[in-house]
Order: sequence, then C-alpha cells, then structure tokens
Amino acid sequence: MALIVQKYGGSSVADTESIKRVAKRVVETEKKGNKVAVVVSAMGDTTDDLIDQALSIDSNPPEREMDMLMTAGERISMSLLAMAIHAEGSRAHSFTGQQAGFFTDTRYGAAHIKAVRPDRVKNALSLGDIAIVAGFQGINAKGDATTLGRGGSDTSAVALAVALGADICEIYTDVDGIFTADPRIVPSARRIPSIGYEAILEMASCGSKVLALRCVEYAQRFNMPLHVRSSFSRRPGTLVVPDGIDPRTLPNLD
Ligand code: ASP
Ligand code: MG
Repeated sequence: MALIVQKYGGSSVADTESIKRVAKRVVETEKKGNKVAVVVSAMGDTTDDLIDQALSIDSNPPEREMDMLMTAGERISMSLLAMAIHAEGSRAHSFTGQQAGFFTDTRYGAAHIKAVRPDRVKNALSLGDIAIVAGFQGINAKGDATTLGRGGSDTSAVALAVALGADICEIYTDVDGIFTADPRIVPSARRIPSIGYEAILEMASCGSKVLALRCVEYAQRFNMPLHVRSSFSRRPGTLVVPDGIDPRTLPNLD
C-alpha cells in the first residue's frame, strides 16, 4: 500500500462534470489499495475572476482582504470534490489550508510555508477516508488566511506530501507531462519520461510552464518524487525523481 498525494489544477476541476471525473480517478486510486490525500486548485478561472471582481471595486484593495477573497476559490473545489467522492460511494473529508495545518509567514499574496502540521489530514487517512486539502493557502501567526502566490497549489501539494511522508506526489494537469519544448508550438517536441530536479529547474522555458518553480525546489530539498501527468488521459507523464531512484519502483504508474 502506498501513500499518494494527488494535486488537480484548475483546468482539471473546471466544472462539475470535471469534478466528477476527478472523483472517479481519486476513488480508483484508493480502490487499488492506496491511501490518498488530494490537493485542489480553484475551478477554472475562478481566481482570475475573483481578482477582477476585487479590482472593479477598489484598484488597490487591502492585501489581507485579497487573501480572504482568493482562498474562497479553493474552498469551493475542495468541498465539491468531497461531495463527488461521496457520491461515488467513498468517504472524503475536506480541509482548508488552516485546518490542514499550513502555517505561513505574513506576506499576503506571496506567503512562504513555515511549517506543515497536517494532524487532521493524518487522522482522516488513518480512519480510511480520502483527505481533500485546499491548495494555495495557509494561515499566518495572526490567524489570518494567506495565499502562496499564483500557481501555489503545486507547492501546497509537495509540502503536504513531505509532511505526510508520502511515497509520491502526482501533479495532474491538462498536458501529458513535461516536453522537450512546448508541443503546441514545436510539433516534434517529445515527452520526457523521467528527469532530475536540477535538469527541470534549468528548463525554465518549458518545465516551469507546467510546474511552479518553488514546488520543484521544495521537492528537491526533501527528495519527494513527482509524477506530472494529465487528468484527461491515461498516458504516463513525466517522473521527476531524486538521483539514484529507479523510477519504475514508484507507485501508481499505470
Ligand atoms: N488558484 C490559484 C491560482 O490560480 C492557485 C493555483 O491554481 O495553484 O493561481
Ligand atoms: Mg488556478
């Protein structure tokens, strides 16, 4: 049995049909005998829409209120995904960043994670539930909601995987992994089956479009293997692995 953290980005949970599709995939992973914790982004363009709404009211909104607003996006997707998993016949429990124990500094809009103490997530997993965690958010020393910067859910997922001691962190997106170049522009671009952290950090032009750089740095620091793959296909993606690890030994590759 493996402990797997799966992260689904905004395009994978863009509408309720997509959320149902993701729920099926999460339950499938659980039914294979794994423990599963899921990190979700806000649905589709929700975060952009929230920012537009704020700016239509105040061109310079207070940063604390911006973070209060933006953390709402991930709360919508986490609770809907928990419901969709329940409708599939499995048990799921959703947690905000605060409930999942993400402690950050006070830089609203660009907070850094200082500690992750996911006691409630661990408890849910030990009871046999699927844990769903809102990405991109935490709580600061004042007890206020903070966000980690755009695209921050990738970092939330890796940080949760590290704190739980997961075997792998799977990052689900809308492309089949990381390519040698952007396949929409360069038709001959090839998918990279497996790659090291350093190499991906050097590929800033194409690698960083798929993964937030901070997430790769975090994974490298704690040797957390990543699997970047599409939630829209069954094809294998790109494994980002520490030196000396045989990628074939990682769980849930099919
Ligand atoms: N929803 C946030 C954003 O759009 C966080 C994320 O998607 O990772 O930036
Ligand atoms: Mg997003």
